[in-house]
Amino acid sequence: MPESKIQQAPHKILAIPGPIEVTNEVLDAISQPPMSHVSPGFVKIFRECMDMTRQVLYTTTGMPFIIAGSGTLGWDEVSSNLVEPGEAALVVNTGYFGDGFSDCLRAYGASVDHVRAPLGDVVPSIEIEKALKKRKYKIIVVTHVDTSTGVLSDVKAVAKIARKVSPEILVIVDGVCSVASEEIRMDDWDIDVVLTASQKGLGTPPGLSILVASARAIKVFENRKVPVTSYYASWQKWLPIMRAYDSGSPAYFATPPVNMVYAYHASLKQITVGLEERFRAHQRASERIKAVAKQLGYTQIPKRPSIAANGMTAIYVPDGFAPKEIIPRLTEHGIVVAGGLHKEVKDKYIRIGHMGTSVVDERRGDVETIEKALKASVRK
Ligand SMILES: *Cc1c(COP(=O)(O)O)cnc(C)c1O
Repeated sequence: MPESKIQQAPHKILAIPGPIEVTNEVLDAISQPPMSHVSPGFVKIFRECMDMTRQVLYTTTGMPFIIAGSGTLGWDEVSSNLVEPGEAALVVNTGYFGDGFSDCLRAYGASVDHVRAPLGDVVPSIEIEKALKKRKYKIIVVTHVDTSTGVLSDVKAVAKIARKVSPEILVIVDGVCSVASEEIRMDDWDIDVVLTASQKGLGTPPGLSILVASARAIKVFENRKVPVTSYYASWQKWLPIMRAYDSGSPAYFATPPVNMVYAYHASLKQITVGLEERFRAHQRASERIKAVAKQLGYTQIPKRPSIAANGMTAIYVPDGFAPKEIIPRLTEHGIVVAGGLHKEVKDKYIRIGHMGTSVVDERRGDVETIEKALKASVRK
């Protein structure tokens, strides 16, 4: 694709944990005239999106579902298609999003248990193992990066324990705030579902729910006894559509947001150029921002650097300051950040997103702008 001629309107850097800054190529793609969703051109684009989504998750066999919606739609897909009423789900809970996923599961009739981490920590493996031995679960759910605390869970280790104790279990990863900013090797780690959304690490505006299901998950879905109690989220509707697109033919259930799919395609083309380098770029930016924050008296919510996300930073403001004064100061200095979300400490911390083009394209200087704004935020 030729270098984009788009000029983005002047704006403050969107440094929240999604939506994030997007590239000119992504904006260019959105601004094209819509195509028919059953035209050969669109089918090709959609099919390539499925393939590149697999690449991002290091899976060759996973089945992507790319559907108009937000990340939350992935919760509904899991809850309605993979769990039957009365079946048990274990939620490895590191904060706000674990609570949300479990509410969704319950809405479809699942019986939900939690193993909860203390604020800023992960759930110890031994507790997950104990819980799995006590009751038979259909699925185990883990939030990869809990966006309310910036805590990064070791999904590889969780999958390994789950598979050891309960070989049939489905391992579900909420990767809304981790896909494309943290490494996820779906096949090697034996994960059954990774669900995400377009607007975080994937660098596309909000609007797409993206979920990839393993062959095991699809089989469990196909063998379910009770009909799915959702209409729009039902894989009875979507699986034939995704299979058709995957084999290069058009199909229709509900109209895909064609321009969002182009935009996602444009972003995936940039992402898949160098995935490993992309993960390293996120680590470098994260280390820099966290180091500056520490120097200035901000303290991390995650209790150890090894469990802190690379695509975002959740920090308590320094003594003598409050988020409600810090956040406008950061905005004045060019960056838009997010306030607290975790109910226990909501008014004590801020969240900074550093994902996607802001950290990958050094010419933008976004990381420097974030560092400078942080420094200015505590100046008396
Ligand atoms: C943002 C987020 C969600 C919800 O995604 P929406 O696109 O807002 O529906 C779910 N889980 C995690 C971990 C998130 O960060």
